Amino acid sequence: MEKLLDTLIENNKVYTKNGKVASYIPELAKAKSEALGICITTLDGEEYCSGECDEKFTIQSISKVITLMLAILDNGKENVFKKVGMEPTADAFNSIINLETKSPQRPLNPMINSGAIATVSLIAGGDGDKIFERILKFTRKITGNPDININEDVYKSEKNTGHRNRALAYFMKSTGVIEGEVEEVLDVYFKQCAIEGTCKDIARVGAVLANNGVLPWNGERVVPAYVARIVKTIMVTCGMYDASGDTAVKIGIPCKSGVGGGILAAVPMRMGIGVFGPALDIKGNSIAGVKILEELSKELDLSIF
Ligand code: GLU
Repeated sequence: MEKLLDTLIENNKVYTKNGKVASYIPELAKAKSEALGICITTLDGEEYCSGECDEKFTIQSISKVITLMLAILDNGKENVFKKVGMEPTADAFNSIINLETKSPQRPLNPMINSGAIATVSLIAGGDGDKIFERILKFTRKITGNPDININEDVYKSEKNTGHRNRALAYFMKSTGVIEGEVEEVLDVYFKQCAIEGTCKDIARVGAVLANNGVLPWNGERVVPAYVARIVKTIMVTCGMYDASGDTAVKIGIPCKSGVGGGILAAVPMRMGIGVFGPALDIKGNSIAGVKILEELSKELDLSIF
């Protein structure tokens, strides 16, 4: 397996040159655009890694998978999907247009920015700091890594420049999707995006989803199987922004990417995969990361379809 991963890194490194690191959050522009790493965690506890798999990056939108699990746990699926839809979008991840034009006026799904901001507003736990503490604690549990924390510089950078997200949140406050205090909700959202991890950490989250909500390393159930199933389904239909259909056809695995360059993938009953390559394509997905997953899926016959 390790040999296969080394070959995949070697074959696909060249694609990093065709992408660009995200720069709309100034701090993200500092990422090494040629970096590429992969890690696989199987359900029987094996871990295989290659490339820059110990490099830390902010998980950004991958955190949307984590907060969706908590929101469903706290509210039940009916209440969550009253506020946020479950339909894919053909627009960019930070688009505002559907919030006004679609009826009912709610975000299309929890994997785009508007939907994730609405989702985090539903998480229980008290004030913003306490809610974020819960998110962090849960993230540490499902990565099996007690050292997970946020990257303060990325958090501040996004908080200072995240005006588009502010616009989305205030719009949703005006339509009643967000009931709480907008700046507090946004602060939690900016922090969840700045959670820092490695390919290994996100591969473990993928393995928990692949294992239907049970930590493969100790058998502890962290979410009911139906929650893991909903999250994996929404990852297939909405997890790769407006390239989700393309990903479903070419890779055929539930995936969620983030503009920090990470991609989390969960192959049901088989493995979790974490990929890191900060050079992005125009849709915001890791350009070499997508290629690597495509080749890996073919090699190991991982498509669920
Ligand atoms: N923090 C990023 C934003 O809100 C997350 C976007 C992403 O990874 O898709 O713009």
